Amino acid sequence: MDHFLYRNGALHAEDVPLSDIAVAVGTPFYVYSAATLTRHYSLFTEALSPLPHLVCFAIKSLSNIAVLKLLGDLGAGMDVVSQGEYLRAKAAGVPGERIVFSGVGKTAAEMRLALEGGIRQFNVESEPELEALSAVATSMGLQAPITIRVNPDVDAKTHEKIATGKKENKFGIPISRAAEVYALAARLPGLRVVGIDVHIGSQLTELAPFEEAYTKVAALTETLRAAGHSIERLDLGGGLGIPYERSNTAPPLPIEYGAMIKRVLGPLGCEIEIEPGRLISGNSGLLVTKVIYNKAGEDRDFLIVDAAMNDLLRPSMYGAHHDIVPVIEPAPASPRQVYDVVGPVCETGDTFAKARALTELGADDLIAFRSAGAYGAVMASEYNTRPLVPEVLVKGDQFAVIRHRPTYEEILARDRIPEWL
Ligand SMILES: *Cc1c(COP(=O)(O)O)cnc(C)c1O
Repeated sequence: MDHFLYRNGALHAEDVPLSDIAVAVGTPFYVYSAATLTRHYSLFTEALSPLPHLVCFAIKSLSNIAVLKLLGDLGAGMDVVSQGEYLRAKAAGVPGERIVFSGVGKTAAEMRLALEGGIRQFNVESEPELEALSAVATSMGLQAPITIRVNPDVDAKTHEKIATGKKENKFGIPISRAAEVYALAARLPGLRVVGIDVHIGSQLTELAPFEEAYTKVAALTETLRAAGHSIERLDLGGGLGIPYERSNTAPPLPIEYGAMIKRVLGPLGCEIEIEPGRLISGNSGLLVTKVIYNKAGEDRDFLIVDAAMNDLLRPSMYGAHHDIVPVIEPAPASPRQVYDVVGPVCETGDTFAKARALTELGADDLIAFRSAGAYGAVMASEYNTRPLVPEVLVKGDQFAVIRHRPTYEEILARDRIPEWL
């Protein structure tokens, strides 16, 4: 459920007509609904209660500081994968005790920054990283709280580019070697083991792979405890999928996911951490764009819009589907027209949808890509020197630009011509 609905014939974000935002901000733009973000976060806290838990929002899915503040103020923790994301979490006012640091390639500088600023735990992904983190922490006279990310070798049954829990993936250490690697961690002076971490992929549409992974984590918890390790926390990663196509079968709900976690892991008495990104942010955002031309091709019609692959990369990168809706509500029985919806960038990959049946649309009509809140704005670039797409947050009848569209002066001023040229 989200808060993007037609009212009086016009698509709204909560109580704000999208056409009002288009007039104020120009197109294209991302728009997020505070009520939807809040609701999705609450679904997880409700699903995990009464287990002790922390829902750590995966910042990489939507990293605007205003969104992080909204979630942080609700009590959310944050999952960061870089120095930049750590700084964003802090800038949003989230305390270090609620920030977990994930990622396969943390640098010594990133470790130092997080140890100085405060960190709940590092999710460590390799033996060299354990050694490096211990050295950094020791040099600062500290002990770094850690979990080790285990790779349970399960098939997440998702897109190959976002599956992370198979043994051929670069992530974590093989679960079969966990006992050995935890023993190494226990010997290193700069580390304090607090739990286990697992994350098997993104956009999972079934519970079975999660359950398979968490069952292995439960067994590992017993093994590691028997070996004398203190396993107080289980970080279960993110990955719960969302319905990108309204017409398709729906992925499991957070309440079902939570019930499975309680059944499989509840008896261990651990604090549960999860790191959802997409399920919180995905359906909380739209990308709104304007049709520039309706171009009749030889065997199809193209809708050329003012958003492009640099603004929303998912279709060209993963072949991802986004539902497209007109901002002006079509009459109930209005005729359908089949379009390829494309952007202006000089690549055939700049295609949002092929042979999509929509109501008739022409120049200056506004349309919205649904489910664009996650992995949308964060993956945007200035390819073709197109200004970075702005972001707008709506709450009730209020809206604000939370990242402005850069001016061409700002864009050009970043380049320098060397004196010797
Ligand atoms: C990407 C990622 C997440 C978030 O995944 P979603 O599918 O957006 O929920 C969480 N944890 C880690 C370690 C990740 O890499």
